Amino acid sequence: MSSSLHDYLAKSLDTIKKANWHRQEKLISSLPGAVVELEGRLLVNFASNDYLGLAGDKRVIEAATAALHKYGSGSTGSRLLSGHRKLHEDLEEAIASWKGTEKALVFSSGYAANLGTICSLVKGKDLILEDEYNHSSLKNGAKLSQAKVVPYKHCDLADLTEKLSKFRSLYRHCLIVTDSVFSMDGDVCPLPELIAISEKFDCWLLLDDAHATGVLGKTGAGIMEHFGLEATGKNIIQVGTLSKAIGSLGGYVAGSSLLIDFLRNRCPTWIYTTALSPADTAAAIAAIEIIKKEPQRREQLWHNINTLKQIFQHLQLPTFPSDSAIICLKCHNPPQALHLSLQLQDKGFFVPAIRPPTVPTSRLRFSLMATHLPQHFQQLASALSHLFRG
Ligand SMILES: *Cc1c(COP(=O)(O)O)cnc(C)c1O
Repeated sequence: MSSSLHDYLAKSLDTIKKANWHRQEKLISSLPGAVVELEGRLLVNFASNDYLGLAGDKRVIEAATAALHKYGSGSTGSRLLSGHRKLHEDLEEAIASWKGTEKALVFSSGYAANLGTICSLVKGKDLILEDEYNHSSLKNGAKLSQAKVVPYKHCDLADLTEKLSKFRSLYRHCLIVTDSVFSMDGDVCPLPELIAISEKFDCWLLLDDAHATGVLGKTGAGIMEHFGLEATGKNIIQVGTLSKAIGSLGGYVAGSSLLIDFLRNRCPTWIYTTALSPADTAAAIAAIEIIKKEPQRREQLWHNINTLKQIFQHLQLPTFPSDSAIICLKCHNPPQALHLSLQLQDKGFFVPAIRPPTVPTSRLRFSLMATHLPQHFQQLASALSHLFRG
């Protein structure tokens, strides 16, 4: 047994490669959009979280540029020290009013928001029930909290109820944690039932709206609006990101004034980190204004989602159930997923293969944008029919 760092790293990487799990970043050299330049070639982009096409929007870029000139590139300190600006207040008000909550708090990333919120709300005497398919930031937040963590089967209300019956009474507080749209599957959590169960068992409920914000609900406000539910008066904590449909960078928590004041005083990933940069903050404000003003973007996104679903149905290709802008094609194994992804890239499409350990079974993951054009779908349909019909 050697304890050399080099030997350890080389051996680990070798194992990763043998399992076909090795991954590397891909270089994009154009503005974000439905078509991007990837490694020197223009590809139709089915790999972006920029669902509404706002990351490359001129108005968003101009808002960021103006903030950059007015406030500089960095915010120079944590919010409680020297990093707090009017822009942060404006953004937090915009998020709270959109979500229908009393207050909101912005973080450096969605990851930081989840990690910090979970580990400041629950501690060693508490219980966390988490969906087995939850995002890494939720799972790591749960670990960091030192609460007893009990996973339940994906969206399985019977399993959740059974585990609550067994464990709930042994702990002080209980937090149920779930993605609202599951990031690697595209399905939506059964929110009304989760709320009923959380009320029955005296639990709090944390919803990660990363892939629902801007996509679900009449105004794009996310999962609560999708189900026609009010956020007030319930033990609900809504977390989300500014980095997906909002086209910027950062995360947020939306909830009661008490929740936000508590986090300002207890949440380590908000207190001990530099405030969101002026450019990112201003970009997010501009993007939220556009999302509210231009519902046609979300309508077009949903039109595109249905177009892709019809293509898969027509070709009888097996997909995972989805109610969002993420649609996954089932693959037999990691090499097949990788091979299909490369073949599609050859034909002009950027569609990532998602493999273990990120997910239990391999898949091609398509994410849709409002800015995909009819011709993109025609070309994709023809490429897929060649690949699968020979
Ligand atoms: C992307 C994502 C996050 C993290 O958000 P960032 O702002 O990118 O850090 C959290 N939760 C889910 C479900 C995500 O998909």
